[in-house]
Amino acid sequence: MNSGMVTAAYIAAAILFILSLAGLSKQETARRGNVFGISGMALAIVATVLGPGVTSYGILLVMMGIGGAIGAVFAKRVEMTQMPELVAILHSFVGLAAVLVGFASYLDPDTVYLGTERTIHDVEIYLGILIGALTFTGSVVAFGKLSGKLGSKPLILPNRHLLNVGIGVGCLIMLFLFIGAAPDGEIAAQQAAYAAGDTGKGLGTFLLVVMTLLAFAFGVHMVMAIGGADMPVVISMLNSYSGWAAAATGFMLSNDLLIVVGALVGSSGAILSYIMCRAMNRKFLSVIMGGWGDAAPSSAGAADDSDEPQGEAVPISADDVAELCRDADSVVIVPGYGMAVAHAQHPVSELVQKLKADGKNIRFAIHPVAGRMPGHMNVLLAEANVPYDLVLEMDEINEELGDTDVVIVIGANDIVNPSAMENPDSPIAGMPVLEVWNAKTVIVSKRSMATGYAGVDNPLFIRENTRMLFGDAKDSVQAVLQAL
Ligand code: NDP
Repeated sequence: MNSGMVTAAYIAAAILFILSLAGLSKQETARRGNVFGISGMALAIVATVLGPGVTSYGILLVMMGIGGAIGAVFAKRVEMTQMPELVAILHSFVGLAAVLVGFASYLDPDTVYLGTERTIHDVEIYLGILIGALTFTGSVVAFGKLSGKLGSKPLILPNRHLLNVGIGVGCLIMLFLFIGAAPDGEIAAQQAAYAAGDTGKGLGTFLLVVMTLLAFAFGVHMVMAIGGADMPVVISMLNSYSGWAAAATGFMLSNDLLIVVGALVGSSGAILSYIMCRAMNRKFLSVIMGGWGDAAPSSAGAADDSDEPQGEAVPISADDVAELCRDADSVVIVPGYGMAVAHAQHPVSELVQKLKADGKNIRFAIHPVAGRMPGHMNVLLAEANVPYDLVLEMDEINEELGDTDVVIVIGANDIVNPSAMENPDSPIAGMPVLEVWNAKTVIVSKRSMATGYAGVDNPLFIRENTRMLFGDAKDSVQAVLQAL
């Protein structure tokens, strides 16, 4: 392929990526969006591999084979519940790639620039490595928190803001030193010196290494300081960072498609972060700074003992739940993370079909941060062939919950916690929630009285109109179906 053909293929791939994003914005078109994305990526890989930039195929094909095989095995094995952590670890790969490409690009003896071009290239390398490094460690910590290997409580170091500012200022000073450390002389002289073993890049490399270590530390600190309920914002923010890291890699490699794709991922991730912040009534800056300037204890971890709800939960049997459903005209189902863990989406879908066939007005209420990744519940329900028109967003259904006979909460906790609205000292204070307690009866299907991801007690469970259907969500829903 000559460079003209590669450019044409890149333009086609960029258009496919834009169509993919457009498709992914609605459930009905999401599958098509995926097909566009896969086609765009296949075209981009083929054009790059066959393009003039690649001169030796042996090692490339071996590495693609190894990478592709690992990806295929993981994609096959991964459970729906593990998707969020898979996404987090994939973000970390993008970050690490940006770091490695940055170092390779700096040390490559063939890329020698002079004057302003050199400064621009150096800044690209520096920023690419910086964003890549903090994306890498931030995503690894996010992976740990989402998979439960690390606790969801925020790690609040003393003087943490000062620490962050210190790292930021240190990186900025080193940027200027790095630009000043570039080797002097004409291109030919520099290459000759390089060939003789004197790269003249010793100080520059040293500064890059120090900055990379600081950025690694910053990534860890940034995500460790964020509490459970604020994690959705961090996930979408790291998604955005991975895009900017890819764009920076594109600049370093002078690859236009990588720049375009990186910018698309970076900006769509930023928009998603904004949407997530709005959904949780949080200020973006205060989340990523771990509560900077935020009067509300947004990330302070679990509530203290004095806030613990007092009272007894009332259990209910599957037979009684079936009876309530039989008598109800309207039923709303609120799915949460526990539905994903229990793989309960298929029996839930059957239950919905049954109640619909019996003439009930049945709908789903989806909270924007339900589950462990944006759109988690929508994906599960689509997998179980639940019709899209039964699936309503929080804003569409919240007002109607007061007129609902039965709300069945399946493995959800934080997203239906009234203390978000009623207790200003709660770590989730201010977060909009599904106001299920306004319904006539609320059934909560979960295994115990344990807290959810944010680690906050839920007074819903002891409300007068709440009944607890204890047990694994899949077993419980199947038992209700049986009784019906
Ligand atoms: P929660 O984590 O608040 O609650 C889930 C509940 O499911 C638990 O209390 C658990 O209770 C129950 N559960 C677990 N396994 C089962 C099972 N097998 N059967 C029945 N119940 C089960 O989930 P929500 O969806 O309500 O809220 C999401 C939380 O995750 C929010 O805090 C959000 O901020 C956070 N988050 C969301 C992200 C996103 O992008 N959507 C990303 C990262 C975090 P028990 O153990 O008693 O069964």
